[in-house]
Amino acid sequence: GATTLPENNWFGARLVANAAEAGSRVALVFEDRSWTYAELDLAIRRTLARLADRGVRRGDRVVMRGEARPEALVTMFAVTRMGAALVPVHPQMTGHELAVILEETAPRAIVADRGFLEGLPLGTSLRLTWDELRSGELGSDGGGSGDEQSFEAGGPVEAGSPVADPPAGSDVAIIAFTSGTSGRPKGAVLTHDNLYWSQVNGMARLPVGEDDVALVATPLAHVAVLGGLPQYTWARRGTVVLAPRFDPDLFIDLVREHGVTAAFAVPAMLSLLARHARFDSPDLNSLRWVLAGGAPALSSTTTRLLGRGVRVVNSYGLTESSAGVTYAALGEVADRTTSAGPPVPHVELLVVDEKGASAPIDGVGEIWLRGPSVASSYWTAGGLRPATDPDGWFHTGDRGRYDAQGRLEVVGRAKELIISGGENVDPAEVENALADLPGVLEVAVGGSPDPVWGEIVTAFVVASAPEPALDDIRAHLEGRLARHKWPRRLRVVPALPRGATGKLQRRALTEQAGVHPADRPAAG
Ligand code: ATP
Repeated sequence: GATTLPENNWFGARLVANAAEAGSRVALVFEDRSWTYAELDLAIRRTLARLADRGVRRGDRVVMRGEARPEALVTMFAVTRMGAALVPVHPQMTGHELAVILEETAPRAIVADRGFLEGLPLGTSLRLTWDELRSGELGSDGGGSGDEQSFEAGGPVEAGSPVADPPAGSDVAIIAFTSGTSGRPKGAVLTHDNLYWSQVNGMARLPVGEDDVALVATPLAHVAVLGGLPQYTWARRGTVVLAPRFDPDLFIDLVREHGVTAAFAVPAMLSLLARHARFDSPDLNSLRWVLAGGAPALSSTTTRLLGRGVRVVNSYGLTESSAGVTYAALGEVADRTTSAGPPVPHVELLVVDEKGASAPIDGVGEIWLRGPSVASSYWTAGGLRPATDPDGWFHTGDRGRYDAQGRLEVVGRAKELIISGGENVDPAEVENALADLPGVLEVAVGGSPDPVWGEIVTAFVVASAPEPALDDIRAHLEGRLARHKWPRRLRVVPALPRGATGKLQRRALTEQAGVHPADRPAAG
């Protein structure tokens, strides 16, 4: 349908409006510094001027290492405001994956610290260090007045002047590479329009208000983080607290110190938080709600949080959808601790069976998406490659089902499905059932090759003493899960392989189990 967009729909336009209308409110807190909306906007304009000065132009790509630091947020807004495309990369990203991204995007510039930039095969790309881009206000480790002066030296955009030519809705804002948990990373092209609609959708569903102090505890490398909670908070003129890294102690300290009311975290982080010794202490009293996403919700963690009076909003989404396409206020629906909730207003979400028809209620099928927040193409060195089918549907590769109330349950991913003796086993279901077994700190389930069964279900467990044994697992699952889903093999491991956002890396896990994804029988 022809939906008309308001004029000021480019990414970051709200921040500019806030700087003008509520400039003295605190927008951002990091370590022992804070920035008002006016200061943040000034830092963005100075960084924009510096980028322009160094030759970055509208239409260029700028790769940025997404460390959790204020400069990364400022750089994101500066790059997108000038009509260039930001390409955020995970701080842990290594040579090969990074080489793929550099090759696909041919960036004009790459922003990171000096040490990181040194060994990179950058060709003609400019190397820009954080120090070079940092304004006086943003210096968190002694970006002294000399630095500030060079920013004052100006460029095409004078401090205080509006941006001459804001980006168009169809301009590329972010090229978001999928986290590559299951293959070669793909660069989803997200336009200013895509990000705008994704915000409209999130705002329609989240209980975010003007008084919210929102803690972001993951790196700034994923579009669901960059375009997620910080943007919703800023849209309401709240305050964002950026954690330099995730650890449950620091998380709790930051909540207490800053009166944090809302937070974004992946379920694995929430689970560490929920079992922390200080979880029940008054230190967490200000926390009102958490946004969880990126992986299946863990029912035991949700129950703990709800028991403490913290609302849990579970959101399903992927890189290609900019952020959440469903949101569920868990606990408000009796008995549902893992539901992903109904779709957002501006997305069509289908559950499609093998015949390509809409699955009936409670029937499992592949999740398809269509709407203005969903990427329509991938960026490649050879040009744009369509991400959707000819009718505009994006096929997610995730399996889900609708309940009678129109709420989505994400069952798992087609490519992670374990096929054991011809029966389908969804790792997430088994993981959820094992998460509250005594002695289990973290659990992941994968398939290992087996000559008789094709694959057998293997549980990887990070354990506390006394370690659980396979018999304990079976006793725990009796009456909860069908027998063919029970793990036949248990491996106690020191840690689970996780990516920069804390997401489980399935590929590394299956490699650990001696299974190569290519050797696995095709799923579905
Ligand atoms: P790659 O596609 O390269 O393997 P990735 O799929 O991890 O990387 P992301 O876009 O970061 O890339 O992750 C999106 C995926 O995470 C979804 O497709 C889905 O499988 C899973 N996911 C996200 N949110 C939820 C949720 N609330 N419940 C269950 N699964 C979720």
